[in-house]
Amino acid sequence: MRHRNFLSVVSMTRCHCCGADAVNLLTSFAALDRVSSDCKPIMPGGEIGRCMVCGTIQKPKTKALQSVTDEIYASYDVYYQGGGSDQLVLDSRDGLTKRRSDVLVDRLRDIGVLGLPGEVFAGQSLDVGCGNGAFLAAIARKAPAWRLNGLDLDDRHAAALERIPSFDRLITSDIQNLTGRYDLISAIHALEHFPDPAAALVTLRKCLAPEGKLFIETPNVAENPFDIVIADHVSHFTPATLTALLGRTGYHVLSVETDWIGKEISVVARVADEAPVLPPTDVFDIDASIAWLRNIQEEALALSNSHPIGLFGTSIAATWLAGSIGTQRIAFFVDEDPARQGRTHFGKPILTPTDVPMQSVVYFCLAPAMAGKIAAKMSRLGFVCATPGQARK
Ligand SMILES: [Zn+2]
Repeated sequence: MRHRNFLSVVSMTRCHCCGADAVNLLTSFAALDRVSSDCKPIMPGGEIGRCMVCGTIQKPKTKALQSVTDEIYASYDVYYQGGGSDQLVLDSRDGLTKRRSDVLVDRLRDIGVLGLPGEVFAGQSLDVGCGNGAFLAAIARKAPAWRLNGLDLDDRHAAALERIPSFDRLITSDIQNLTGRYDLISAIHALEHFPDPAAALVTLRKCLAPEGKLFIETPNVAENPFDIVIADHVSHFTPATLTALLGRTGYHVLSVETDWIGKEISVVARVADEAPVLPPTDVFDIDASIAWLRNIQEEALALSNSHPIGLFGTSIAATWLAGSIGTQRIAFFVDEDPARQGRTHFGKPILTPTDVPMQSVVYFCLAPAMAGKIAAKMSRLGFVCATPGQARK
């Protein structure tokens, strides 16, 4: 009998998290279509592997990866489907839909990261990969005494940043040249993009004030299989592999949460006083994620054989699936976000759930934890809800 894991291992490359020459590459990934983190389809042909020492799932640093990421960043659109507005997410504490940056700043305030309750602390903050400043603007709204700084690849969002009250400075130098002393350094969906995350974390640690905090928000690959097909995500963390990386780079992790934002990891850390106790090597099964994604493609192809189908969502997962099965198989997209409704995606209309024609089939291309819940909510609207794993015809 063939053993899939054994056969798919082709070579070992160097881990960009722990430095060991121990990353097993999986050939099964090369056939998967990909998507950029700003929601554009990317051709198949990538490489991915898992480090046998630290467990981190990662894409090896190759010229091919460099040219794909260069191309993506050269024309990057922040939340382009939402017209540049901050993404809306569900706050798990009260079930309300809010701007994601507001949810994160509220959580940070609650655990004292932006100063203790009732205290006015005029700290210095730096947001790494600040984009158009959605997170900094949320700090300005909720902790107005803080001085705000941003670091990004270029100054294309300088005007938007200047409009944020208490914004001080945009830094566009390489992260390795960063200096200064900050009371809070945040990296929201940034760490997974860094070609050398370990070196970046060491640099950031040197720029933390003595009581300063580092806040990392990154996708949780253990809950979101779609993360691996995002071409410009170079590392794919689980809570355990991110905790290990922070320990190796001189941090003491204060909190690791997976429910602040669904399918994401939220970590707060400070500079470590002593050598960390690293968690056991994570054994996340990336082969299972690749198989699950292939199954999704096959289900969507089968469902759309006779008639084009609707796809739920317009962001990463739905864009990846539409790109991989072909847009001629898609009749429309469905999105709950009012900022996206009424627009088009791949030239197909984006409908509100209540406008979906009766009897049409909508495929819920979502992570396992989300698909069933959302499809159940929509099932009374009269269209056919197909979810991954249950849609094979
Ligand atoms: Zn490693």
